[in-house]
Amino acid sequence: MKRLVKGLVGMSSLRDRDALDNALVQLVGEHSDTGMEAVRLVRIVGETIDPRCLTLTTWGGQSAVREQDMVWADWSLLPRLDAYPNRLAAVVQRTISCSNHAPFTAVFPIEQAPGVANLLVEIVSPQPLSASALATVESAVENYKNLLGMLDYGEKDALTELLNRKSFDGAFFKAAETEHLKLEEIEHERRTVARDAGHWLAVLDIDFFKRVNDNFGHLIGDEVLLLMARLMRSNFRFHDQLYRFGGEEFVILMRCPNAHDAHIALERLRTRVESHTFPQVGHITVSIGSTCLQKNDTPGAAFGRADKAVYYAKEHGRNQICSYEELVQSGALEQPKSESMDVDLF
Ligand code: GH3
Ligand code: MG
Ligand code: MG
Repeated sequence: MKRLVKGLVGMSSLRDRDALDNALVQLVGEHSDTGMEAVRLVRIVGETIDPRCLTLTTWGGQSAVREQDMVWADWSLLPRLDAYPNRLAAVVQRTISCSNHAPFTAVFPIEQAPGVANLLVEIVSPQPLSASALATVESAVENYKNLLGMLDYGEKDALTELLNRKSFDGAFFKAAETEHLKLEEIEHERRTVARDAGHWLAVLDIDFFKRVNDNFGHLIGDEVLLLMARLMRSNFRFHDQLYRFGGEEFVILMRCPNAHDAHIALERLRTRVESHTFPQVGHITVSIGSTCLQKNDTPGAAFGRADKAVYYAKEHGRNQICSYEELVQSGALEQPKSESMDVDLF
């Protein structure tokens, strides 16, 4: 009991998601009266018609091991949810699902939003878990869910529930860090890792949004922002990160195999917005500027490049996507001296 309370207190001091995930599986694994073989934290990802399982963290008797990074996971290589009946039952019924034959598994769903259980704690044990062990795990999972909710609260924009600007720098450095890694090495280490991928940063600004507010009022303007966030969410992959930077400006940090694919994803969003009928307002358009993340990039520098490309798009007719790199290559934008010097140095 004393150790359990200590573990829960330790968890509540954490402000990093990965550390919190590890602490949960470790706590669950070490505080069982039955003995456990493995504890896993599994995220359900991908399309609703074909969901997949991404194991985030595993405890196997020693310390918790981080298995997968959302940023690197390739959805198509992940195991299907329907290959795991217990996990599927926990997701669909949103209650604890236990198998009644060896190996005994108990799956605890975590509802991060009402009605959506896309995070699971799975326990594998040599014997079925006792009622008291089930209750203990349930409390630890509930505690984890509350802590996760608090992290979300600090990192998400209240109106759209997209990530807020505050959480951008950390995610950026994580993405930029991987740019210089040898992708083949990562591929060798982890089978479910995407092969040739880079990261792109895009800044999206709604065209003539002031008119929406002026003509229909702020409340309708806010609704447009909310619907825009929904369109964005349905347009990108689960590992792409979507931000509202304030006002009617959004940022997308996405992983793509190449610049062409990045452009296709952004173009798909642009045309979806253009053809969407917003209640009362009708049709609106967006201008998007994109840039490819560089080795040793900084959030400020990358944002600045994408912002220059948005500015160019606005100046040249709006409702379009401009790539910073293409604008520089074509001579439409001048390459700053510091950037060309970097190229010379490496
Ligand atoms: P363009 O970007 O095409 O140049 O024109 P714009 O009219 O969108 O220009 P600008 O970026 O200067 O204006 C943004 C407007 O967004 C200003 C403000 O009225 C509105 N706005 C900013 N934040 C919010 C918000 O949280 N809610 C609502 N409803 N409107 C906001
Ligand atoms: Mg703006
Ligand atoms: Mg605007």
